[in-house]
Amino acid sequence: ASQEIVTEVVVLGAGPGGYTAAFRAADLGKKVVLIERYDTLGGVCLNVGCIPSKALLHTAAILEEVKTLGTMGVTFGEPTIDLDKMRAGKEQVVAKLTGGLAAMAKQRRVEVIQGTGRFEAPNRIAVAQPGGPVRILFDHCIIACGSAPMKIPGFPHDDPRVMDSTDALEIADIPERLLIVGGGIIGLEMASVYSALGSTVEVVEMKDQLMPGADIDLVRALEKVIKKRYGTIRLETKVAQMSATAEGIKVVFEGKKPGEEIYDKVLVAIGRRPNGKLVNAEAAGVKVDQHGFIKVDAHMRTNVPNIFAIGDVVGGPMLAHKATHEAKVAAEVIAGMPALFDPMTIPSVAYTDPEVAWMGLTETDAKAKGIAYEKGVFPWAASGRALGIHRDEGLTKLLFDPETKRILGAGIVGPNAGELIGEAVLALEMGADMEDIGLTIHPHPTLNETIGLAAEMAHGSITDLL
Ligand code: FAD
Repeated sequence: ASQEIVTEVVVLGAGPGGYTAAFRAADLGKKVVLIERYDTLGGVCLNVGCIPSKALLHTAAILEEVKTLGTMGVTFGEPTIDLDKMRAGKEQVVAKLTGGLAAMAKQRRVEVIQGTGRFEAPNRIAVAQPGGPVRILFDHCIIACGSAPMKIPGFPHDDPRVMDSTDALEIADIPERLLIVGGGIIGLEMASVYSALGSTVEVVEMKDQLMPGADIDLVRALEKVIKKRYGTIRLETKVAQMSATAEGIKVVFEGKKPGEEIYDKVLVAIGRRPNGKLVNAEAAGVKVDQHGFIKVDAHMRTNVPNIFAIGDVVGGPMLAHKATHEAKVAAEVIAGMPALFDPMTIPSVAYTDPEVAWMGLTETDAKAKGIAYEKGVFPWAASGRALGIHRDEGLTKLLFDPETKRILGAGIVGPNAGELIGEAVLALEMGADMEDIGLTIHPHPTLNETIGLAAEMAHGSITDLL
């Protein structure tokens, strides 16, 4: 027998976009239903994305860091690694967070319905359940159905030796030879993990640089470190063929570095595709483009006035912090508040070793688009703190408007770059200029100090580094 629930707001998908929207709408007094097909809340980010990857990356960073202690007279033996315990440790972190979300939903009386939801009309979604569908009648809906890893047609994705990011996070084993297809953030983060655990990692990327979109100077600093640790890195090269053989996964490369190799495992991390086509949005009249993206305006409203969409499914950088901010806008607009998604910038962070973080304008982009800028670059080789932690490969770069001297963009590479970029994001949002940043007293000796020093370099108040 089918069941019917009448609600003010229904949220489809419980990732960082969906749960944030549901909680905000409930806090604003709305009756909310949250639909999720999996048995835990949190979506990709908490279950198979940001959180488990960072738990593994922290372990990886320590494994690499202890090796630098040789110069301080401390050496360790080979680490012993228990993968079952590592997996359990990672899962414990995830479970704590997803369990916390379930409690927060309960506290707010957000009704969670488990099952796959599909639109039937502009105000009705049916959620498939073993005993027959639950129909949810709503005033407003927020679509937050997220994205999934992209596959390459014709490649043996069904072979367990060909992994996507979810498989890679399971660390079923430590392959001797691992190929990462796609030199973007997700691929390179998993490369950091497996390399630290002992795999020989190779990377193939179609574009002419790793981490396309990031400032090339930052990428070079990362490359300098990983070239010493990894096997071959192929740029401007694509995988033409991949086949499963008894010896391993055979890969044929075409382009700048052609060749044929056999790997124990391959991680395909070539990007993510939005889930827009999976919710039967047409039944509600919501337009979904050919890729699966749903277009929204600055209020996060789709072409159907009572239906909103947020997160990975609406395009833009596929990042959790973008999803959560869009989520609050959608919930607030539904509650009648004058909210708008209009950030000056959305920061990007690769939690690789070293980390790469950037926000606003990049120098690569400024050059390509002919945008005038002044820059301040502070090499970490001149930072006492960076030397003290044996990490002098880092770099802090700030770009300023030549007229107003306001900050336009920032890029940082080095340990903790992801933490450090926050100051630059705030500076951009607040319209801070070179002097605001340069005259702000940063604590010494910190890595954070390099931001103040880069501003001083741009200002010309310091010129001599050492
Ligand atoms: P999702 O998190 O994808 O959630 C969508 C939810 O909707 C899912 O739970 C899905 O099951 C559910 N759903 C979909 N369709 C239906 C349906 N029809 N019925 C019911 N439920 C449905 N971002 C960062 O900002 N920082 C990071 O460090 C970071 N690391 C990442 C690492 C990895 C390995 C990956 C894969 C991603 C990472 N991301 C990171 C990206 C981040 O995970 C996503 O941007 C974020 O999860 C998007 O949130 P969302 O709410 O739009 O969708």
